[in-house]
Amino acid sequence: MASDCIFCMIVAGELPATVIASDDRALALMDINPATRGHVLVIPRTHSTDVDDIGAEDLGACIALAQQIARRARRTLGAEGVNLLHSAGRAAWQTVFHFHIHVIPRYAGDPLVLPWVPAPGEPGEIAAAAAALEAG
Ligand code: AMP
Ligand code: ZN
Repeated sequence: MASDCIFCMIVAGELPATVIASDDRALALMDINPATRGHVLVIPRTHSTDVDDIGAEDLGACIALAQQIARRARRTLGAEGVNLLHSAGRAAWQTVFHFHIHVIPRYAGDPLVLPWVPAPGEPGEIAAAAAALEAG
């Protein structure tokens, strides 16, 4: 457990949370600032910061639980779609540095909008980025 981590405190039962599902590796809790109705966070019981340092088993458990919650959102809340979102690092808007996947139910006409304006990229720049990523 990381000593100053609010999600570790939730896992330890030291902070209140509305937990809706859990297994031996992960739990799903209601976000206290919901982007839409039914916004859930899926977190591992063991502390990791983000996608960079989480272990494969915890990551697998979190994505499987996120899938269950996404299915439930469609069945029980009438969501017409779902966004799964993970932010890694301050530059990517992460504010709580314990790995989490947002499960955000989506409804026609809800207030969320894409945070970027899709536009064609410059082919040479796409190729250069691809080469860097491919080379590892
Ligand atoms: P992010 O900005 O991607 O790191 O997401 C952190 C999320 O945690 C935000 O959506 C917050 O609303 C949510 N959050 C912060 N504190 C709590 C808490 N005590 N219980 C539930 N959700 C929380
Ligand atoms: Zn933690």
